[in-house]
Formats: sequence, C-alpha cells, structure tokens
Amino acid sequence: MPDLAKIGVIGAGTMGAGIAQVAVQAGFDTLVYDISQDFVDKGLSRIKGFVQRSREKGNIRADDERQILSRLHGVLELETLKDSCLVIEAAPEKLDLKRDLFRQLDSICDSETLLATNTSSLSVTAIAAATRNPQRVLGMHFFNPPPLMALVEVIQAEQTIPATIQRAVEITRRLGKTPVSAKDTPGFIVNRIARPFYNEALRILGEGQSSVETIDRIMKEAGGFPMGPFELMDLIGNDINFAATESLYRSYLDDPRFRPSPIQQKLVQAGHLGRKTGKGFYTYGAK
Ligand code: NAD
Repeated sequence: MPDLAKIGVIGAGTMGAGIAQVAVQAGFDTLVYDISQDFVDKGLSRIKGFVQRSREKGNIRADDERQILSRLHGVLELETLKDSCLVIEAAPEKLDLKRDLFRQLDSICDSETLLATNTSSLSVTAIAAATRNPQRVLGMHFFNPPPLMALVEVIQAEQTIPATIQRAVEITRRLGKTPVSAKDTPGFIVNRIARPFYNEALRILGEGQSSVETIDRIMKEAGGFPMGPFELMDLIGNDINFAATESLYRSYLDDPRFRPSPIQQKLVQAGHLGRKTGKGFYTYGAK
C-alpha cells in the first residue's frame, strides 16, 4: 500500500516546484526529484522563498513555515518515490523522455501509486503505453503558477480506469484545487483554446502590424486579460510554449491554425526562453 500522505514530483522547474509547493502546503510529504543537485536546489529555494514571504506577510506563522518546509525533500533517486500515493511528472515536454520516466516509475512504484503527467500537449495515452500497468496512468494538468491557479485538468487516457480518475480527483481536491475532467485530445481543453491567443499575437507581430508592448497592453487594458500574450509566453517559457504549439500542430495533422511561429522558434534557438533565462520577448533581472 502506498503512503497516502506522500506525493512525488518529477522535475523541480517552473511547474514541478510550483506543484511541490501546493503539495507541501496542503500537508503532503513531498519528494521533488530532478537530474542534478543544482536543479533540485534551485526548485527548493524557490519554494522556500515563497513560504518565507508568506510568513513575512503574516499569512502563516513561523511554526507553520517550519512544518511546511519539514515536509519538503529534494531527491536524486527515483527509487525514493516508490511508496508515494501519487507521482506527478513535470519534466520537459518531450515524449521519449516522459515515456522513459514512466517506464521506470512503473517498475519502481507500488502498484497502487497513481502516475500522472503534467504534459501540456503530448498524448497521455502514448505515455501510459510505455508502462505495464497503464490503468493507473493519467494526466493532471496544472496551470502556471500552480500555487495561484485553481484549475487542474484531470485527463483520462485510453487505458486509464475510472477508479484512477476518482482517486486523482479526490487528491486534487485535497490539494485545494478544482479538478475538471478532460479527454486525452491534443491540448486538452485549455491549451487548445489558448493556442490562437499566442499564435495570432505572434502573427500580428510578424506582419509588423504592432509591437510586443502594444499587443500586451491592449489585451490587458481593453481586453481585460491579466497578462498579455508575450508576457504569458515569457512566464510559461518559450521552449515549453513552442513545444506545445508544435505538438498540437502535428497532432492536428499540420492544421495551419496551430502552425508554430518562426519568431518564437528563433527565441528558443537563441536560448531566450523568457523569465527563467532572464530574456525572452522582454528582458528581466540578471539570472
Ligand atoms: P522547466 O524547463 O521549467 O522544468 C523542467 C525540469 O525538468 C527542469 O528542472 C529539468 O532539470 C528537469 N528535467 C530534465 N530532464 C529530466 C529528466 N530526465 N527527469 C526528470 N527531470 C528532468 O519546464 P516546466 O515549464 O516546469 O514544464 C514541465 C512540464 O509541465 C512540461 O511537460 C510542460 O509542458 C508542462 N506545463 C508547463 C506549463 C508552463 O507554463 N511552463 C504549464 C502547464 C504544464
């Protein structure tokens, strides 16, 4: 039997660190795995920073801060996740990499452990197919930044059994989030709807009709969006956002509605990934 109070998170990047923060704050013992100590440390220090600021603002007491942080553990061995009730994978958006991770998790983890991917655009069914026990594999798609965004798309792959979805919905609620069921179609619900938001902004920019700053400003001021498309792409990470668009484009058999933008492709090639590298459509403080 897995430990119902323990959650594993794969990847300590933008999403992994955010999801781990949600999990520790909700009372779960949380193990965060990454491929190097450096990545683990970076993710953990982001979480510690948030929790500390929360205490400084008076939202939590010093004792709460100590307890929350005592539940947070960085790890470099996948084996340590074996008795988690749920493992949420938030590694880079690459199918082979995710399939390889799930193959390993499947053989390491308790047969009752739920294995969830946070993929934005890849086929959960194809990821589940890498395992011998795909009935317990599903998608749990959190939004950026996870501590602030309420929604989680709970995605049923072809092989996922209803009991898996039921347990994942319960855990999502224990995490303080709002689960919404989605089918395993490219981009699920939110990312499919959001794609034209980014793509049309990139097309307007490419056609020279307007600037990054103007498009962002009018979408916020006149459109009522909390962030403009370029600010959002920089927040998400241009590599992640480009990979998601590319994946939807391929999945919809090169439907021109989803065609990725060469402007964003160039930023990715240059390593201008957005906030996480200090430069994307905008320039941020030194990283
Ligand atoms: P990121 O680049 O910020 O972080 C990825 C982390 O995975 C890094 O810390 C990296 O060291 C680690 N990693 C690399 N190879 C690994 C491996 N083999 N095993 C384990 N960890 C490995 O990426 P992110 O933005 O956190 O995205 C992670 C996943 O979440 C992707 O599937 C992405 O599509 C999805 N997602 C992203 C967003 C977003 O806004 N960024 C939103 C929803 C979902």
